[in-house]
Amino acid sequence: MEIKNLSIEEITKLTKKGEVSVKEIAKQTLEYIKEKENTIRSFINIDEEKVLKDAEKLDGSEKKGKLFGVPVAIKDNMNLEGTETTAGSKILKGYISPYTATAVRKLIQEGALIIGKTNMDEFAMGSSTENSAFFKTHNPVNPEHVPGGSSGGSAAAVRAGEVTASLGSDTGGSIREPAAFCGVIGMKPTYGRVSRYGLIAFASSLDQIGPFARNVKDAAVMLEVIAGFDPNDETSVQRTDTDFTSLLEKEIKGKKIGLIKEVMDFDLQEEVKNSFEKTASALQKLGAEITEVSIPHLKYSLPAYYIIAPSEASANLSRFDGVRYGLLVEDKNLRETYEKTRTEGFGTEVKRRILIGTFALSAGYYDAYYLKASRVRRLIEKDFEKAFEKVDTLLTPTTAKTAFKIGEITNPLEMYMNDIFTIPVNLAGLPAISVPSGTDKKGLPIGMQLIGKWFEESELLQIAYAMEKEIGG
Ligand code: GLN
Repeated sequence: MEIKNLSIEEITKLTKKGEVSVKEIAKQTLEYIKEKENTIRSFINIDEEKVLKDAEKLDGSEKKGKLFGVPVAIKDNMNLEGTETTAGSKILKGYISPYTATAVRKLIQEGALIIGKTNMDEFAMGSSTENSAFFKTHNPVNPEHVPGGSSGGSAAAVRAGEVTASLGSDTGGSIREPAAFCGVIGMKPTYGRVSRYGLIAFASSLDQIGPFARNVKDAAVMLEVIAGFDPNDETSVQRTDTDFTSLLEKEIKGKKIGLIKEVMDFDLQEEVKNSFEKTASALQKLGAEITEVSIPHLKYSLPAYYIIAPSEASANLSRFDGVRYGLLVEDKNLRETYEKTRTEGFGTEVKRRILIGTFALSAGYYDAYYLKASRVRRLIEKDFEKAFEKVDTLLTPTTAKTAFKIGEITNPLEMYMNDIFTIPVNLAGLPAISVPSGTDKKGLPIGMQLIGKWFEESELLQIAYAMEKEIGG
């Protein structure tokens, strides 16, 4: 029995009946990972002994839970008590989590077997996982290419079959872009749907945890498990509509799907453009009504994001001073100790963001930058409100191009362009999902993004499920 080819439903059927032990799954998974990691390098940290012990514990339990015995990986910016959590940064090397993030705790409560922590761009800043302080992760489809980022390790692990599902975090596209590049499902829920407690903050008004999986149904199950109000995160929302699986099989006839006109203003790779058109026709064939809508402020998303995200990051990252967490480089006095620790501990991209953010928030500049960017953000949100008066869901390519080669993009501004279609979604706090839609000439995966109304994940997943059946690949 090859666990790596099975869905959550298939695995839990076997484990609950006791036909396969969780220990057997653990052993098989660890062995397979060892083989794969020679080329892929999805994981920063795997504590094999803990995985085997956890598996034994599960085998001795009542065999309950939506994820009973399912091997799952988590991005290394989520705390798991007693394990190292680095967020891909040297500054946190050696930091042991004193508690477990709520989303991870929920996975464990439902019987998931946590395999390890996945590689990522340092503090989730990047689109290729090349900014990890430790090593680069390779795209399982073609190891010369990046897996996307910042949750590149979580996407690659799922694509390579190292785990069945994983968690990532998405501040501007960090789940959806790597999902598109690796050819897996990646979903960013509505802001507030999933607790961020225990997630190392990047930009608090944008960050959201979400799942990677190999099919829409598995992603829906994962979301059901991690969603919900948490008193430890005041931005998490109390809601009762947390059933994301029962609508999946329902047909999508009559659904209104909007194509964003402004998407065509960007330079789309030809195969991406073709796939986008094919996807729209496929949805039409399924009975959906396709209309064109406008998000006039789309082109301002990137500039607004690159003020808001670094500003919030500069504040969030001020806690890493060598005294409270991880790395400490001692010097003559406290000030120089801070300076040395942060100079050695942070990488180039993180320093760039801290500089931009500190500048944008400094006295006299707040109105000109942060406030202005917040106003632009509101305009983008209003554009979406207007579009959603006419349609149920929006369709865009997840990225304009497929995965680039490792080392190919060196200009940060060019790197930022990878998220042009995903960032507006975070600015507006909306839910969105990337679904694989074929490959380009070189065999690299293409992804299509569906964007839903606020808290309409159930409908979004229903459309994604129908789309997957029709165009999946
Ligand atoms: N690539 C974007 C950035 O570097 C988004 C990252 C993310 O979603 N965490 O900010």
